Parts: sequence; C-alpha cells; structure tokens
Amino acid sequence: MLLDTYGRVATDLRVSLTDRCNLRCTYCMPEEGLRWLDRPDLLTDDEIVRMVRIAVTDLGVTDVRFTGGEPLLRPGLARIVAACAALEPRPRLSLTSNGIGLGRTAAALREAGLDRVNVSLDTLRPEVFRTLTRRDRHHDVLAGLRAAAAAGLAPVKINTVLMRGLNDDEAPDLLAWAVEHGYELRFIEQMPLDAQHGWERTGMVTAEEILTSLRTRFHLTPEGATARASAPAERWLVDGGPARVGVIASVTRPFCRACDRTRLTADGQVRNCLFAREESDLRAALRSGARDTEIAERWRAAMWGKKAGSGLDDPAFRQPDRPMSAIGG
Ligand code: SAM
Ligand code: SF4
Repeated sequence: MLLDTYGRVATDLRVSLTDRCNLRCTYCMPEEGLRWLDRPDLLTDDEIVRMVRIAVTDLGVTDVRFTGGEPLLRPGLARIVAACAALEPRPRLSLTSNGIGLGRTAAALREAGLDRVNVSLDTLRPEVFRTLTRRDRHHDVLAGLRAAAAAGLAPVKINTVLMRGLNDDEAPDLLAWAVEHGYELRFIEQMPLDAQHGWERTGMVTAEEILTSLRTRFHLTPEGATARASAPAERWLVDGGPARVGVIASVTRPFCRACDRTRLTADGQVRNCLFAREESDLRAALRSGARDTEIAERWRAAMWGKKAGSGLDDPAFRQPDRPMSAIGG
C-alpha cells in the first residue's frame, strides 16, 4: 500500500489527463493561458491505464478521479474510463470537470463506467461567469450538469470557489438552487495554486464567512464528527436534510492529518501532496522499460516522503512551481 511516515495510507488517486483548459478562471490561470505541456511529454492513454492498474492492483488504490486542466478535452477519456472500469478490483471512478462538453459526453462516460462527477460552477449569473472564467459558457455548464444528472452520474456535486467582490454574495442563492436541482454543493477555499501567484490570505473568502453567509438563510447542522473521515469536505445538513452542503477549508481548517491522496500529473509525475515542491518522475521509468513491480516501488517511495502538512501556515511557504491546472485539482 501507499504508506507514509505519519501512518497515512493513500487510497485515492487523482489523475490529471491534460493541463489544457477551455476556461481561464481568474483564481487558476491568466487570461492568455499557460505554456502547455508538449504532447510527447504527456502520458499516452495506455500509459495512464497502466499506471492506474499498478495503483489499483499493487498499491491499494480504491478511488480514481480524472481531472486536469479540463479532462473532457482529452480525446481518449471514455476509453481510459472503460479500461479502468475493467480493472480488478474495480475502482470507483469519478471526474472533476468544468462541465463544458458534458452535455454531449455524460451518457457515454456513464456507459464507459464513470460513477460520479464534480462540476465546477461559481455563479448563477452569466455575466459574473464571464468575468470569473473569461469565457461566455455559463449555459454550457448548466447543460452539462443536467446531462450528468440525467445520465445517472449520481450524486452530481458542484465545486464553488468564492472570490471577494465577484461572487461572494452568492453562497445562499447557489445553495438554494443546488438543493432545488438535487446537486450537492461544496465550497472550496481559494488556495495559493494559481499560475499568476495572485493569492493573498487577506483577500480569500474563508469557510467561516461562507458558513455565516449560508446561515442567514439556512439552518445548518454538522453531519457528525465521523462524517468527514478522510474526505476534505466538512458537511452540514441543510434545514434538517437530506440535502447537504460541504465546505473544503484547505487553508483555514486543513485536513492533512487525514489525507489519503496520491496524484499523477499528465506528464507522469507522482506527487504526494497538492502543495509538494518535489515530484517523482515515473514517466521516465515507464518509458525505460521498468516492470510494474519497479514502478510500484518508486510510487511507494514517493509517498513515504510525504510531509505532515501543506506548510501553508509556515512563513517560509512557497507555492509549488506547477499551478493547480497542471497538477490536477
Ligand atoms: N477544469 C476542471 C474544473 O474546473 O473542475 C478540473 C480541474 S480544476 C483545477 C479542479 C478544481 O480546482 C475546480 O473545482 C476549481 O474550481 C478548483 N480550483 C482551481 N484553482 C483553485 C484555487 N486557486 N483555489 C481553490 N480551488 C481551485
Ligand atoms: Fe480550467 Fe478548471 Fe482552472 Fe477553471 S479551474 S481554468 S476550468 S482548470
């Protein structure tokens, strides 16, 4: 298994399928985009499936989430999902997406074996969406959400980042809307992982503020001390349930002690933490003919060195060189 020196076991693998994206969310990347990874550096579909197979069959991974960049931009996505769904033991398969294109692909992805989807949506107002993402695609995201629910990718979760002065007044409206449509809403605190290095602790909207804002309209009861377990979201029942809302307070209430994540970037680097400054180059091993056992051994070694925490509260904290979009959020 993927154990570290603090006794944590990683069973949840995040696979980034591309660093490219069709949106330009201000908290993620600059308007002009980024210098994308060169194609030959990306793992091929077969290499990705092999890495997932090693993670699942040799290293105890039970949950695989495809992300990016925007994973729906990867042409082989359905094929990759199908191959991963055929693994024994079968991992739970999920996707984090901005939802653009999900309207066309949700049913096929479900058919291929995808279990669940998280769609990022920060606002109900098309003009705010345009400002936040620098693209006029609000309508496509809503269509993607509807298609995901219709395809049975349940529960459909929504990831929301609140930005001060842009959409920080929308928390209660978003929750009312999510409850009405049967989507599970989760707020994510803005993290210092943007390519522009524009994050400021004093500028971010905290979990506490979000909860205060939600409580102006809803009665929230904690789902219970055990509900969080290793899941990063603290969850509350909305007006007695069954609807729930989550808050992922990576900055103000970090959950590093319960972290069960391991990450694979689109260019085949294993990362033991979102905020890690080191990576392990498993692509080089893959492409130099290493056997599965050798790759598994290197993966274990990469996780063994995982630090106790993100280091966000350390005055010497430095953002990782890769932005969120190239790590896989
Ligand atoms: N493009 C897909 C999407 O937006 O869902 C998948 C990749 S994106 C990097 C994954 C998640 O990270 C999204 O929910 C996005 O809102 C979130 N995210 C991106 N940058 C962030 C930041 N600086 N702080 C917190 N969350 C961030
Ligand atoms: Fe793209 Fe997701 Fe980053 Fe937005 S958060 S720019 S959708 S990768």
